[in-house]
Amino acid sequence: AVPVSIMVGTGRAASLGVLFRRGDALQALDGVRVVAFDKTGTLTQGRPALTDLDALAGQDEAAILADVAALEAQSEHPIAAAIVAAARARGLAPQGAEGVEAVPGRGLKGRVGGRAVLVGNARLLSEAGVDPAPLEDLARAQAGRGRTPVLVAIDGAPVAALAVADPLRPEARAVVGTLRSMGVEVAMITGDSRVTARTIAAELGIDLVEAEVLPEGKVAAVQALRDRGPVAFVGDGINDAPALAAADVGIAIGSGTEVAIESAEVVLSSGRIGAVADALSISRRVMRNIR
Ligand code: ADP
Ligand code: MG
Repeated sequence: AVPVSIMVGTGRAASLGVLFRRGDALQALDGVRVVAFDKTGTLTQGRPALTDLDALAGQDEAAILADVAALEAQSEHPIAAAIVAAARARGLAPQGAEGVEAVPGRGLKGRVGGRAVLVGNARLLSEAGVDPAPLEDLARAQAGRGRTPVLVAIDGAPVAALAVADPLRPEARAVVGTLRSMGVEVAMITGDSRVTARTIAAELGIDLVEAEVLPEGKVAAVQALRDRGPVAFVGDGINDAPALAAADVGIAIGSGTEVAIESAEVVLSSGRIGAVADALSISRRVMRNIR
């Protein structure tokens, strides 16, 4: 009877766009107490747009945007695409940046036309010896609206706070509600600032938030949540792979990167995050039948 229920369950799951890559995943999912989502690209669409360009008094906004876009043209981060597109839309032709370096979890540094440019979060500026304080009020207001502040310093001086907003996936709020009604805790893990993360979490009805997590810190964030019981982690990106492997159940978005899919026990082939709730309810039904 056992293999039959599991076969029926995995077949039903497949028709809903849920692929169980390992036989024991159906059983493991039944025991999950916490579902942790990666924010960018999983709860959000992963396609941010530039929403703000707040420069300090006396600064030239267009010149700043051009310098920033010159650096971002060499980055693969979703924030980079938003900024480059905004610069193009304003008819700016960013001139070549030199020595551009990505600082993981923080942003970019490089030179444009002899100017030293920093683009990223407060930590990036602080660690480079630039006090981000003059930009703090602007950044806090942006973050309080769920946007990601992008601070800019030129030649060692803070000059502007840009912000990008990444729209939520339309089904994100509903899936959080469904999971909570099924008695599991829902968490969000992100490299974004605490204020931005808390604002978005509040919109979604999520109360467990791990923010300002560095790329190599996602595994530790998953491990910390395991104090509450078995954890399923839902993610899509290359840097989600270690966390997917570290979770009791790794759930990858089918439209995500190959590495993420390879590291997961469950794949949402439909690309819908609503399928997380479908997967959980199927696993519960199957395991109830078996017992
Ligand atoms: P996430 O995937 O949650 O955005 P990351 O580790 O990629 O996490 O980034 C963490 C933070 O570092 C971002 O929220 C942003 O503030 C900053 N950052 C990273 N890359 C860039 C970039 N190319 N331009 C500006 N800021 C960046
Ligand atoms: Mg992601």
